[in-house]
Amino acid sequence: MFEVDSSIAPGGLWEQIVELVKKQFTTESDRSKMERYFPLFMSHELKGDTLNIGVAEALQVEWFTTLFKDPLESALHALGHPSAKVVFDIAENAGASAVQKPQPSPAHLLKPSSSSTPSLIGMPSTLPLTENYTFQNFVVGPSNSFAHATAMAVANGPGRTSNNPLFIYGGTGLGKTHLMQSIGHYVLKNNPAASVCYITSETFLNEYINALTNNAMPAFRERYRKVDVLLLDDVQFIADKRQFQEEFFNTFSSLMTYQKQVVMTSDVAPKDLKGCEERLTGRFKQGMVVEIEAPSYETRLAILKFKVKMQSAGRVIPEEILKYIAENIRSHVRALEGAISRVITFIDLNPNIPMTLEIVQHLLKDSIEQEKTIKDLTVEDIMKVVTEFYGVTLSDILSPQRTQTLVTPRQVAMFLSVKLTTRSLVEIGRSFGKTHATVYHGAQTIQKRIDVESDLRKVIENLTSQLGRNPSELSK
Ligand code: ADP
Ligand code: MG
Repeated sequence: MFEVDSSIAPGGLWEQIVELVKKQFTTESDRSKMERYFPLFMSHELKGDTLNIGVAEALQVEWFTTLFKDPLESALHALGHPSAKVVFDIAENAGASAVQKPQPSPAHLLKPSSSSTPSLIGMPSTLPLTENYTFQNFVVGPSNSFAHATAMAVANGPGRTSNNPLFIYGGTGLGKTHLMQSIGHYVLKNNPAASVCYITSETFLNEYINALTNNAMPAFRERYRKVDVLLLDDVQFIADKRQFQEEFFNTFSSLMTYQKQVVMTSDVAPKDLKGCEERLTGRFKQGMVVEIEAPSYETRLAILKFKVKMQSAGRVIPEEILKYIAENIRSHVRALEGAISRVITFIDLNPNIPMTLEIVQHLLKDSIEQEKTIKDLTVEDIMKVVTEFYGVTLSDILSPQRTQTLVTPRQVAMFLSVKLTTRSLVEIGRSFGKTHATVYHGAQTIQKRIDVESDLRKVIENLTSQLGRNPSELSK
């Protein structure tokens, strides 16, 4: 299967490398990538410390580097080449390959469709929508209400220019895929004949490479041009893949021309998609860009109650336990789901043991420990929220000025830092450019004030929720 060049004897290094890469690829999906793509390597040669692998075209250089560079290098290191590097490049004889190059002009996309288009054998037309990723199952709170409302508007009127494309971004496990698929379910419910295509950017890229390899580009383009709603998940994946962006831009422009709805998700905002061409991110921003933020304590509790209702079929979980979970699992919704599932499983396996807070603390010990390390608030997070609320700048807060308009926000930030982070007074002081005594005094002042000023107390409770924490932590 592998072409062995003169520098590597048959049964020699390359075969050993392949074996070691196979060992690293344990999942079926990784294995199938290897089986599909390794035969596309046109040459491989170890020169000094560099293993050069020749491929047919630039997109493959990008894509195969992402997929295979690290595992290949690990294999080489294990085989006694500790500082070896792997470099993918266009092979010298690439021009002679049967691989069809992508066509940069979008003009061909606009041709009327023809029934003689070859079908794309073996390519999924769309990944299945997850059954319960619907609007009914999506709990709305301040962190996602704008994204939810916009998604509803898109679902009700797909293709309308003001919301096209819709770009949803936010951290992992916060509900982007769920919301995106809700649009798909909704559109299909209203119009079962609509063509809704849900696909991850990685699958899209894989299909594209397959189409290139099989000379099936026209069919590939035709297929995407035909969809009414394209739901493209995790587009951050196309960052740094310039060649692919070219094709993606063409597909995208064509869908826009035909007023088809495009919805994308990403873990970062369009402006932060590194290595992404500006004309592409510029187009993303022309529609609607919405963010999903980490849920507040109240929303986390509401989500937990919802999940219990859905999953626990009559089992009773005391409110204090749900509150404990909502308070301690803060990073994302997927972690909340994991926690509640553990509790439900425990109840099922131990029907005679009454569920207590101690048991839950024990059950969730590891997840809560993990939460502490991933979602520890920083003084900077607090400063950001406080300065935004008071309409002052960070340099105002850090300056020595002592006007009341600055002293209150500064002391509020100090108070919240003391209450909500694990930093010491000295460390907090360092972040503010002040001594630990100043931080202590500032925090004490706010503590005294909120005992008597209910307006200030409300402000601070709101800021605490906004930071994803439970206001009850303030009285600890
Ligand atoms: P992302 O795509 O942002 O990484 P997902 O959409 O996969 O996140 O969501 C992770 C899990 O959390 C899914 O099971 C989803 O159903 C659930 N989830 C996220 N947000 C909500 C919400 N607001 N209401 C109910 N479930 C949610
Ligand atoms: Mg997702």
